[in-house]
Amino acid sequence: MSTPMFDHYNIIKEQYKDCIVFYRLGDFYEMFSDDAVLASKLLELTLTARAGEKMCGVPYHAVETYIARLLNLGYKVAICEQLTEPEKGKRVERDVVRVITPGTVTEESILEETRNNYIMSVYVSEGKMAICYSDITTGEFKCQDFDLNLDTNLADVLSRVMPKEVIGNSEAGKLYNSLAILRTGSLPKFSEYYQWAFGLDRCDKNLKKQFGENYAKVFELEKRNLIKVCAGALIEYLNETQKRLMKNINKIEIIKKDNFMTLDINTRRNLELTESARERKKYGSLLWLLDKTKTSMGGRMMRKIFDEPLLSSSQINNRLDCVEEVYKKILLRDKLSEELSEVNDIERISGKIAFGSINPKEMLSLKNSLKVMPKIKATLEECNKLNKYANGIENFDYIVDLLERAIDDNAPSLLKDGGYIKKGFNTELDNLRSMRDNAEGWKNNLEKEEKEKTGIPSLKIKYNRVFGYFIEVNRKDADKVPLYYERKQTISNNERYVTEDLKRLENQILSASEDSIKLEAKIYSAIKESLLDQIEALQKTAKTIAIIDCILALGVSAVKHNLVKPTINNNIKDIKIEGGRHPVVEAFMKNGTFISNDTYLNNEDDRIMVITGPNMAGKSTFMRQVALITFMAHIGSFVPATSAEICLTDRIFTRVGASDDLTFGQSTFMVEMSEVANILANATSKSLIILDEIGRGTSTFDGLSIAWAVVEHISKMGLGKTLFATHYHELTELEGVLNGVKNYKVLVKELDDRVVFLHKIVRGGANKSFGIEVARLAGVPREVLDRAKEISKNLESVNKKLDLNIFKENKQKAEDNNKLAQSILAIVKDIDINRVSPMTAFDILVDLVNKIKQGE
Ligand code: ATP
Repeated sequence: MSTPMFDHYNIIKEQYKDCIVFYRLGDFYEMFSDDAVLASKLLELTLTARAGEKMCGVPYHAVETYIARLLNLGYKVAICEQLTEPEKGKRVERDVVRVITPGTVTEESILEETRNNYIMSVYVSEGKMAICYSDITTGEFKCQDFDLNLDTNLADVLSRVMPKEVIGNSEAGKLYNSLAILRTGSLPKFSEYYQWAFGLDRCDKNLKKQFGENYAKVFELEKRNLIKVCAGALIEYLNETQKRLMKNINKIEIIKKDNFMTLDINTRRNLELTESARERKKYGSLLWLLDKTKTSMGGRMMRKIFDEPLLSSSQINNRLDCVEEVYKKILLRDKLSEELSEVNDIERISGKIAFGSINPKEMLSLKNSLKVMPKIKATLEECNKLNKYANGIENFDYIVDLLERAIDDNAPSLLKDGGYIKKGFNTELDNLRSMRDNAEGWKNNLEKEEKEKTGIPSLKIKYNRVFGYFIEVNRKDADKVPLYYERKQTISNNERYVTEDLKRLENQILSASEDSIKLEAKIYSAIKESLLDQIEALQKTAKTIAIIDCILALGVSAVKHNLVKPTINNNIKDIKIEGGRHPVVEAFMKNGTFISNDTYLNNEDDRIMVITGPNMAGKSTFMRQVALITFMAHIGSFVPATSAEICLTDRIFTRVGASDDLTFGQSTFMVEMSEVANILANATSKSLIILDEIGRGTSTFDGLSIAWAVVEHISKMGLGKTLFATHYHELTELEGVLNGVKNYKVLVKELDDRVVFLHKIVRGGANKSFGIEVARLAGVPREVLDRAKEISKNLESVNKKLDLNIFKENKQKAEDNNKLAQSILAIVKDIDINRVSPMTAFDILVDLVNKIKQGE
């Protein structure tokens, strides 16, 4: 059906084909045709019809909940607003004012308070790649480029940034879609963006407009076209969707290579850094334990600190020294805690200032936060280490004063009914308001005057919605009414009139109310405008507050969880932990029941710990604790130990437990092996590797062989310090044969047919798994356990003859081959090719062939 409104809707829909269009009609956002069918299903709305067109709608005041649900499902929403007030005979102008996408949402109710919301753009061309990501609510805008190992680098960046939306060129799409990390299901679908948006000239123009004519020089991008294109295309996308100025996006930060320790997504999950492995919730993770931040900005920064462990000794020690200061000074901790508790999210508020969407309530919360700044600054100035952050807090006296005078303390969050500008701020507004508010008084005065003039005692001035103000006179007095009274209505006993004076008064009263609302809006706009200049200062201050908040949280955690300052710098090459503990496991146990353990790893004789011991003994806990202590030292946190020396570590790898990935078409064993492959391909001598029972997902011999070969490879290639827990006791044979391997076991006490776990790691190899005993503890029936014991004995006697010989023979053979190859090489090297005669050459060849044949 064609009506002017549907025709307009169709034009809009044509332009926003990839979005669900929310079309404003009065108090509702309506969806039509295919969008209506889809949205009614997704949002469980009733599908109706208008002029033969399918439709469904949501009330405007509840729209955010519906948008949030669509964004979570990966859809984009185009908001088509009414731009003019409905007037009789005039068509209401409507247009799309914003496209809301998962990575560009700014609504508070949809965002997570303590988590950034990133959109990322990826550009791949001729074997090189740039990435750029932004959180438009905070103004963060970061870029990085790569010219090698694009797939691994992209996977690493994605695990670090965890964007909510990813766009890019078609080549980037191919790379993205090939990544194994997508199988985790935690990353968004790739959206290919227009090819033309990646043109250098256009991108350059976009960046100039956003960051200033001189941006390339200021942000050192003169020779970095790849980044320019990637960043420029992201700005294009933001302009297209936001359709408003984004003044808070004013800096490009370039991430330098090797700024941060790399942690792949498996490692982050296995170590339960920001969420627990099972529930995928913050509760039970290391972040949950340490994040005692007071502000949302601090909460987001803490997550960033977790996502970006530092690799620079000076940056780490700077943070550690500050944490130490907080740790040592109880009064400082209390004072800062109190002061920070009063600070609201000024970072996201500055985003709202930039978008022009700040409401009066947010202005009040901005004022209240800024009021505390001088106190925080003074507290910092008194410190020995934290004092360097005092300069990061700007002076906002002028703004505090302006908002104090201008915004009513009980201001509503909506502008439409006025009432947010304080009395006394603007005389004209005060006059209009008093006229509006004094209507009753004015009416009474006029009534008195008219009574006196006419001598009619029953005369009253009244008001109703239909007629407005009128004079009411009892019919018996109607003959006393003067000529200038204009009759309007007759009702049972009364006559109603208006006069010129009354009309004038009515106009003044009614327009005073309307005018005051208009004037408030005008004043409010001017205040918003004046806040625009403060965005950069607010951002700088917000960042400082966030850092201070994190340092405070780390200091408070250090006290609460009995942590110590680790020693970490370029001179330390080993990991030496005394009395180390797993902070989260410990937190869930009764005080004093967690058993601490020492660790010593270096790059020579103590490079690989092969840890054996029964199930449930605490092997996994121990290995994770070493990784967590290493990680915590790199984020500048104190660590759970009595003392710790930690070397700078470029990556932590973990391969832990068996996680089936059947939904994504991978078997347990396949997942395990691809993780192992990733570790072997990317570990360096500066890495820390945690391998928990690799080779478990296949037959015993395949598994054992793989585990054995992996340890050999790590040892030979010098792939970093390694903790290797295994139930294959055969691997303890490697100590003394392979460089750097040392055996460790977890102590248990055997009492009759029970085992007591002592959780203590000591030198030596275990020779029993106690699997059946653990099964008993778990409640497996007695008959099954007895039978299992019989079978186990039987299998052990068969296996004994087989296993080790296979490995030893192979090993011997490899060593013999190596010797042979060396001797052949030595002979060939000694040949002087210019002097040797053909006859001698033949003799040498015969000799070599014989040697090789004998060696076979
Ligand atoms: P499996 O071989 O079956 O995987 P495991 O040897 O890896 O077992 P963990 O999972 O590390 O054992 O630990 C089992 C339980 O033992 C933990 O959940 C914890 O409750 C307890 N535990 C581990 N280490 C300690 C410790 N050092 N002190 C006290 N309790 C501990």
